[in-house]
Amino acid sequence: MDHLRFDNRFVRELPADPLDAAGVRQVHGACYSRVRPTPVAAPALLAWSREVAQMLDLGEADIADPRFAEVFGGNRMLDGMSPHAACYGGHQFGNWAGQLGDGRAINLGEIVNARGERFEVQLKGAGPTPYSRRADGRAVLRSSVREFLCSEAMHHLGVPTTRALSLVATGEGVLRDMFYDGNPRLEPGAVVCRVAPSFIRFGNFEIFAARGELSVLEKLVDFTIARDFPWLEGSPGERRSAWFAEVCERTATLMAHWMRVGFVHGVMNTDNMSILGLTIDYGPYGWVDNFDPGWTPNTTDAEGRRYRFGHQPRIAHWNLLQLANALYPLFRDQGPLQDGLERYVAAYDRDSRRMQADKLGLVALGDAELEELDVLHRLLARAEIDMTLFFRALADIDVEAPTLAPFEGAFYSATGRAAHGEALQAWLDTYAARLRQEGRPAGQRRAQMNAANPCYVLRNYLAQQAIDAAEQGDTSVIEQTLEVLRRPYEVQPGREAFAARRPDWARRKAGCSMLSCSS
Ligand code: AMP
Ligand code: MG
Ligand code: MG
Repeated sequence: MDHLRFDNRFVRELPADPLDAAGVRQVHGACYSRVRPTPVAAPALLAWSREVAQMLDLGEADIADPRFAEVFGGNRMLDGMSPHAACYGGHQFGNWAGQLGDGRAINLGEIVNARGERFEVQLKGAGPTPYSRRADGRAVLRSSVREFLCSEAMHHLGVPTTRALSLVATGEGVLRDMFYDGNPRLEPGAVVCRVAPSFIRFGNFEIFAARGELSVLEKLVDFTIARDFPWLEGSPGERRSAWFAEVCERTATLMAHWMRVGFVHGVMNTDNMSILGLTIDYGPYGWVDNFDPGWTPNTTDAEGRRYRFGHQPRIAHWNLLQLANALYPLFRDQGPLQDGLERYVAAYDRDSRRMQADKLGLVALGDAELEELDVLHRLLARAEIDMTLFFRALADIDVEAPTLAPFEGAFYSATGRAAHGEALQAWLDTYAARLRQEGRPAGQRRAQMNAANPCYVLRNYLAQQAIDAAEQGDTSVIEQTLEVLRRPYEVQPGREAFAARRPDWARRKAGCSMLSCSS
């Protein structure tokens, strides 16, 4: 580990909290506060990602080094690290929430690997920071397992995301009230090491605009462009315009991916929106089992369902609008910001049409096919059909004479099957006719579909099984799950259990369908 090279530009180039002390407070005129992780009782490595380790030039010997768990559990600093927590604000559930900040995440620094790639390395659950507000700065094992597994699963699905290097048990208990019964209980704690080229969020910009600290805002914007978007060219004004447009574009691509794989983030507040268009902050996220655009996994959002599956692309646009508002003081006129927001709409339309065409095995998705897709979505919802199983099986229909046979295992209810089977058959007939008309080789079409429709996603109950075992001291289920999710588009013989639709017991069990915000 001693070979890791740090180049901490965020810390070096941006203004620091002048009050260099622990203690919760409003931090003015600064992008971050220096703060060290709080050591834990007994750091123990539970899981790691070999791909992320490789990215950081960490080898087997580093993983086996007893110092690994100490470093990535927050008990030991390496030379060159410069631990800090970032200041940001955010719109939560549609309302400005003021200062939030890294309340339980501590950035260790920026690693530059042997290939010259830069990564911010961050511990989540490493203890209190000036941004912890009333909370403890810790994370429980269950939410850490979920973050660790899902970050890596998303990456292997081809969805832009922050990554996870490691999962370290702290050996300490964390008080949480997961059932809202007024009886908090001690749960095992853990620390995840997250990795991304940048952890800057929309909220990092919003906070300075909200406070009228425009010179800090300007520094942060120019820093972000220089460090994270170095390919942008032109005058400073041109670069800012191009930058906002690229943020819009990346966010659009991300939304198209979430809709493609059936991922519901659950807390799309602007403090959880990455400036790089990465999936960030795995909290009460969930995967769609039975296709339902109205579904949200977040109990906190159960009433308003602001962050429901089908609403995500619109919320992303709203969030970009908040970012545009924050950036407005730095732009002479609103034209480029308006252009960026329009770019979002166009890019989402382009990317989602392309991805949905891939899901359906069509050359392109014209307006007529888009209407057919809407019809299908309504049918899937009404008939309670599993999204992942349905689309994967769609590649297997007999194009000459399609039947419902490939889909029998995808129905969640016999009544749904009985009530909507006929309509689904009619849809399949139209769809098969369209495929016959395109007349492409079946192998080519199937390959296109199988690269867009995963067989394995981190269904909520699968994550819960990994958690249940880990809480009993058995990390093998985490390992097996990660192994399967490494190749989500490949049928893996013997791994059928990981592709099964949600079992009945999982419908109501805590953690398997609904979760609350911060644990
Ligand atoms: P989230 O809903 O996870 O995006 O968190 C919103 C805000 O609450 C962020 O500023 C987090 O850093 C903070 N937060 C969440 N959980 C904790 C915790 N256990 N301790 C301190 N801050 C937290
Ligand atoms: Mg967050
Ligand atoms: Mg969170």
